Amino acid sequence: MVIRQLPDDLVNKIAAGEVVERPASVVKELVENALDAGAKRIAIATAAGGKSLIRIEDDGHGMDEDDLRLSVQRHATSKLADDGLDDIRTLGFRGEALASIGSVSDLSIASRREDGPSGMILTVKRGQIDGPRPHPMNRGTIVEVKSLFAAIPARLKFLKSDRAEANAITDVVKRLAMAHRNVHFVLTGSDRQTLNWPAQSGETAVQSRLAQIIGTDFPQNAQEIAFSRGGIVVGGLAGLPTYSRANTLNQYYFVNGRSVRDKVLLGAVRAAYADFLHRDRFPVLALFVAIDPAEVDVNVHPAKAELRFRDPGAVRGTVIRAISEALAAAGFRASSSVAQ
Ligand code: ADP
Ligand code: MG
Repeated sequence: MVIRQLPDDLVNKIAAGEVVERPASVVKELVENALDAGAKRIAIATAAGGKSLIRIEDDGHGMDEDDLRLSVQRHATSKLADDGLDDIRTLGFRGEALASIGSVSDLSIASRREDGPSGMILTVKRGQIDGPRPHPMNRGTIVEVKSLFAAIPARLKFLKSDRAEANAITDVVKRLAMAHRNVHFVLTGSDRQTLNWPAQSGETAVQSRLAQIIGTDFPQNAQEIAFSRGGIVVGGLAGLPTYSRANTLNQYYFVNGRSVRDKVLLGAVRAAYADFLHRDRFPVLALFVAIDPAEVDVNVHPAKAELRFRDPGAVRGTVIRAISEALAAAGFRASSSVAQ
């Protein structure tokens, strides 16, 4: 007999290798949890680029004692009501983020439900669970991650400088804040200014949020995208060709509220601007695609940054058309037949 079933804490560590690549991935998982909990205000604080501390405080619905205990167990989730994977409406669903993070850091989770008698706190030190114990607090959840990867020198070695890790965290929070404009985000780090993006609502929420994050001159140099066809709804702001960049760093893509990197969307944007931009210039753009969740598979990649469309051709055609119409409204009319 040479095969053995691995113990849970080792399984969690292996999973952590996929889910928790760097501090920014921890921030992404924790902020997504806060959003899934219906938070209206999320405060993120980090020290040393997230290597020594990541602290996320939300005012969401919180957890009771039993849920808190389950939350750090692997494959424990409140987000898959039935056992299907083809209709996912929350940001999380794998039920492994907290278990994974707990296996590679000192983790504490304090939480209180509105109707709870008091708050409770649970700690996980390198996989060892302690609590829950009573902990006075307001409704919501506070998660603290300390000494990330301290016990895994190999992983620690691959992290970049504090500044680079802090920048990656800022990028993650930016993307989440663009997609969730009705939520107030506050981000503080040891060496940077506080970013404070109050909630936006109403018709100009997209413009206001993108002005907060990309810069106040962006909406002035962009055209609103508003188009839908065949159940695919495309929105956002398309930067004017006159406002282009030398790289794609200022392009933000979202599908059903999730920031994604996707070849179909990138290709569609390239095609839509082909008549107006030289090959080495790229538009600034924030593109929001809403589509029936059954038409996309987000279960391709553990960090869910990649996805697969069931009908990529329809998505491509619709996005090209949506951007072409926006650009035409701003006076940039395509001469070729790209506009399908
Ligand atoms: P997933 O998000 O995939 O369900 P996680 O490991 O990230 O898995 O979280 C496990 C569970 O813990 C969630 O399903 C949720 O019920 C609960 N949870 C985690 N974070 C929060 C939070 N900030 N507020 C309320 N509940 C939370
Ligand atoms: Mg989660």
